[in-house]
Amino acid sequence: MNIVDEIFALFECRGDREYFGETVSQRDHALQVAHFAVQDRAKGPLIVASLLHDIGHLLTGEEGMAERGFDGCHENSGNAWLRQYFSPAVTEPVRMHVAAKRYLCYAEPDYLRGLSDASILSLKLQGGMFNEREATNFLAQPYAHDAVRLRRWDDRGKILGLEVAPIESYRELLTCHSRSIEL
Ligand code: FE
Repeated sequence: MNIVDEIFALFECRGDREYFGETVSQRDHALQVAHFAVQDRAKGPLIVASLLHDIGHLLTGEEGMAERGFDGCHENSGNAWLRQYFSPAVTEPVRMHVAAKRYLCYAEPDYLRGLSDASILSLKLQGGMFNEREATNFLAQPYAHDAVRLRRWDDRGKILGLEVAPIESYRELLTCHSRSIEL
C-alpha cells in the first residue's frame, strides 16, 4: 500500500467521525477546506495541507476529546506522521494551523466573534489568544502566511450539505506531492 492509499483508507474507516462539536463529518470538513483552498487558487502543497490538516484526529482512536476538556494536540501528531511523506510546504501549515487561530484571535478582534462554540472551547484548551510576543514569533516562521490562509478555510469548512469534489479527485495531487515510499 502506498501513502495515498493509506490516507484514503484512514478517511474510509474513520472519516465518518463527527468534526468536533460541528454538524459535518471529518471527511466532509477536510474536503470542504481543500475545496476552499482550490477556490482561492492555493498552490498544490497548500491544497494538500488543507485536505490533511486534521489527519491527526484520524490517526488516533480518540474521539470528542475537547468536550472532555483535553487537547489531543492533533496538529503535532498530524505533522509528525505527514513529515515522513511530505515536504515542509505541506507539513508546516498543518503543524501551525492551531497556532494560526491563536494568532488571528490576537490580530483581528472580529475573528474571535466569528468562531463556532466548539472552536472557542478548543481555543481555551489550546492555550488561548496569543500575546504580542507570541504573535511576532508566529509571524517570523516560514509558512505562517500559508497557515493563516489554511485557518480561514478551516473555519469555513463546516457547511452541512455543501457539494464538493470527492476525495478520489485529489489522488493525483497527493501522489505528486508525496515521496514515493511503499508502505
Ligand atoms: Fe479543521
